[in-house]
Amino acid sequence: MPTTTPNAPHATPIAEFATALGTDVQAGLTAAAAGEKLTADGPNTIEQERKRSIWLMLWAQFKSPIVLLLVVAAGLSFGFKEWLDGIAILVVIAINAAIGFYMEFQAELSMNALKRMSAVPAKVVRDGKVVEIDATQLVAGDLLFLEAGDMVPADARIADAAQLQADESALTGESLPADKLTDPLPETTVLAERVNMVHKGTFITKGNGHAVVTATGMRTELGKIAGMVSAAERAATPLEKKLEAFSRKLIWLTLGLVVLIFIAGLLNGQQWFEMLETSIALAVAAIPEGLPIVATMALAQGMLRMARQQVIVKRLSAVETLGGTSVICTDKTGTLTQNRIEVTNIVTAGYTLDLQADAAAKNDPRMAVIRQVAILCNTAELHKEGEAVKEIGDPLEVGLLKFADSPDAGIEAMRAASPKLREEPFSSETKIMATLHAAQQGFTVYAKGAAEEVIKRSTTIDTPEGAVAMDEALRSTWTAKAEELAAQGIRMIGAAYRTTPTEPAALAEELVFAGLIGMVDPPREEVKAAIAECHSAGINVVMVTGDHPSTALNIAKQLGIATDEETAAINGSEMAAFDSLDEAEKDRWAASHVFARVSPGQKLDLIAVLQDRQQVVGMTGDGVNDAPALKKSDIGIAMGLRGTQVAQDVADMVLKDDSFTSIVYAIREGRIIFDNIRKVVIYLLSCNLSELLIIATASVLGLHFQLFALQILFINLVTDVLPALALGVVAGNPNIMKLPPRSNAESIIDRKHWIAIGFYSVVISIVTIGAVFVSHNTVHRSETWNPELCNNILFFTLIFSQLLHVLNMHASGTAFFRTEVFRSPRIWIAMLASALIVVGLYAIPVVRTALSIHPLSMLDWVIVAGAALTSLLIIRIGRSLKLIHQ
Ligand code: ADP
Ligand code: MG
Repeated sequence: MPTTTPNAPHATPIAEFATALGTDVQAGLTAAAAGEKLTADGPNTIEQERKRSIWLMLWAQFKSPIVLLLVVAAGLSFGFKEWLDGIAILVVIAINAAIGFYMEFQAELSMNALKRMSAVPAKVVRDGKVVEIDATQLVAGDLLFLEAGDMVPADARIADAAQLQADESALTGESLPADKLTDPLPETTVLAERVNMVHKGTFITKGNGHAVVTATGMRTELGKIAGMVSAAERAATPLEKKLEAFSRKLIWLTLGLVVLIFIAGLLNGQQWFEMLETSIALAVAAIPEGLPIVATMALAQGMLRMARQQVIVKRLSAVETLGGTSVICTDKTGTLTQNRIEVTNIVTAGYTLDLQADAAAKNDPRMAVIRQVAILCNTAELHKEGEAVKEIGDPLEVGLLKFADSPDAGIEAMRAASPKLREEPFSSETKIMATLHAAQQGFTVYAKGAAEEVIKRSTTIDTPEGAVAMDEALRSTWTAKAEELAAQGIRMIGAAYRTTPTEPAALAEELVFAGLIGMVDPPREEVKAAIAECHSAGINVVMVTGDHPSTALNIAKQLGIATDEETAAINGSEMAAFDSLDEAEKDRWAASHVFARVSPGQKLDLIAVLQDRQQVVGMTGDGVNDAPALKKSDIGIAMGLRGTQVAQDVADMVLKDDSFTSIVYAIREGRIIFDNIRKVVIYLLSCNLSELLIIATASVLGLHFQLFALQILFINLVTDVLPALALGVVAGNPNIMKLPPRSNAESIIDRKHWIAIGFYSVVISIVTIGAVFVSHNTVHRSETWNPELCNNILFFTLIFSQLLHVLNMHASGTAFFRTEVFRSPRIWIAMLASALIVVGLYAIPVVRTALSIHPLSMLDWVIVAGAALTSLLIIRIGRSLKLIHQ
């Protein structure tokens, strides 16, 4: 029995509404009640993408033109009473379908596994405690806690709100954020104007508050819409599209060639029925219809592999773009640094403390005001659970708390004595935070923020001689003091306060400057190597931070992001909007490695400049305001630990460990995946082309031997499938991060690859046909040709040459025995398994008859093996002489 929600929650007073739902606006539901409701109502999910049924997926395998061709061939065979041929072709159709199905199913499984890994959490109050649960477990009546950056996980009625604003454009199309209030509204209020409700699929841009869930899953407003639109097909990635277009072109090319071969065969007096069957088989074998799905599978498996390494890539196409990334714009705090912030320096007008040199200075009694700012103007918490201390909140604020906490003036005591009345939260735009507290007489404001910002907003300064007016000279003195420490890599913030008899409108105004607080945030150890790897891979790394230019530059130099010659960072305050930039300025930006005091909006301009310079830009971000930049960049990278849900929602990639090294890892994987797909394409095309060439040569020259239709289909199954699958997942070429990034314009198969494909297939064809002549002229030496024997030698030589040819599919620059392909166990397993299938089928009489195989003499086997090795050898020589590049 599903929960019945009172009609029109927006028109009902919240208390009444909560009671009707059996919940409490302070304590939320009990865990037991929530459990019962979950069983009754079902999980909070939108079943928009109904799982593609297995049968549909299977049926799709039979819808290709290839199958149609094969059905025609089978029909012909039955028509001519060639029963065995007909049945064999049907078997081929079945095997083809099974393979296609298997690959698509695997890709689907990977995607599903990935979906499960990127589950969204929701904060709810249950049994009076805030807990984080999987958003799918939400039920009507749950008391949600929402704050800036959260995705709203269900429809809910606001219970209390502090400056709460939501962006509802996804649902209502209204692009301005809506202020959220609690009072009931007239029942007729339309959806877009229900300001006391929040809806699933929208997100919180500002403030925080609680709300009682009114509807979950398909009963939400979003669910109602999702139910109406039919499930969207997954869009093909650019690579898949390219491959599709590519195979389509090849289909026409192949068909043209096949028709030519057919005509040549007829002119040479072949039976038309046999020739037709051969042509169809050839068309089937030569058309690389499996390419797009091989690509899909390689991309999907790559995604899964990355997910296991804490990198969630959200779209297949992002995997592809990743490999081409040429610039990474990364933030500093937490990504390049450890985000373990410790206060080290205090500078006031009266005293200077270096806590690194003198730890005892921490107890300096003159620090009272600094301590108050640190504790009161702070949203973090330290939960003491026995010996252990649980840190909740922003690391910078946690660092401040740890510094300011003391046994006699503890955090709790101070916060209890001066309760917070109001807050202007910190944002990367204002770079300052202020809180209002009740004082014995009137009010006190505490503020902290970027040093210049606090200095700018201070009108007086505390000195041992009392308050002194802050004039421009003093301001520059203090800015210089901040600068001096920042240049040593110290993160600087300013602290200030103000007492007023009446409640002020804006908090961070007319402040009394108290001093500077310096903090260290050590770089992450492993990042330096990752940056060096980027540089060798031709990837430019740019630091984009809200921090002080000197701090940023210092850290950038420590990590090797900026060169020692760079003397200044580009400061956000001097960054003009994209439209008013001249070319010289754009060049200066494009050549710079450190951008400091940058606001989220300016990230967009930076991306525009870099994209204007044909760069593929990866950009990190974590806040609500970073969403546009994450969208605009080619690869938006959100942080899993630090990032808001909104950032994670719009990003292409989420780093679960927030670490820069994960970005580099993902780029390497992206490159490997692209490379592997290219390997598969080259391999399949060179094999297919060699089949075409052999058959064309035999019919045009009217040779005494030819491959038969079923043999071609068989070769196609044996060589295409297992080796191609293994190639799709080989480990990366060891030099892959020493090459420059692939340009986006680069096609998957360019000129040099075509030349390689041509060379490979010509070598394989000549050697294979040569093997027949060698056998005929050495072993058999008879006047008359033995077409059956010749055919068998042709057949086996071609199979083994193609299998060995897998080993040629490596990148240049490594010795043969050390290539990624030679070293891949999967490649060897695939080759062995394919060879075993050949031998195994050779042992089955029916198959032998169907494939027209006869026992070969030992010497003939030697010729077959020798020829297969010869083609490998010739290709090896071609590659070591650098005649051929792949
Ligand atoms: P970043 O994290 O890249 O340093 P932010 O935009 O978060 O960039 O911060 C910009 C500046 O604002 C910081 O360098 C610091 O001086 C100050 N700042 C950062 N966090 C806080 C905070 N919670 N309260 C006050 N000031 C802060
Ligand atoms: Mg920050």
